[in-house]
Amino acid sequence: MKSTYKTKAREVILEYLKKHTEQRLTAREIYEAVRERDAEINRSTVYRNLERLVDDGSLIKYKETDVDATCYRYSEHNGSCHDHMHAQCTGCGKVFHLDNAVFGNAPNKIKSEYGIDIDYGKTVIIGVCDKCRKKKK
Ligand SMILES: [Zn+2]
Ligand SMILES: [Zn+2]
Repeated sequence: MKSTYKTKAREVILEYLKKHTEQRLTAREIYEAVRERDAEINRSTVYRNLERLVDDGSLIKYKETDVDATCYRYSEHNGSCHDHMHAQCTGCGKVFHLDNAVFGNAPNKIKSEYGIDIDYGKTVIIGVCDKCRKKKK
């Protein structure tokens, strides 16, 4: 019975995040929303499933500096978000899927000079998008 539970939690989480792609959601918020739908899904199941969904590329995980929390977002590029970096707007929270070509040789240089092998799927560049910049003016 346990395995059906796991799949169920996964489905509830995905369904919820798909409906809230414009919102930034912390693990706790997701957990609370999932609980409202199914009180039997416990916290560790939700957290474990979130990690798994990040690993398989269904979700993007990123740090939110102002709330100091880890947030999750559904990836419209389902399953392929491992292999490219993302940028996120601090104004509206929108996530951009970046073309690796933009970085040119930078990842190789970072590797040779700093010894860091970039984990693309987990790298999020923080900035302000066009729309939000215009709003500020
Ligand atoms: Zn992506
Ligand atoms: Zn924005």
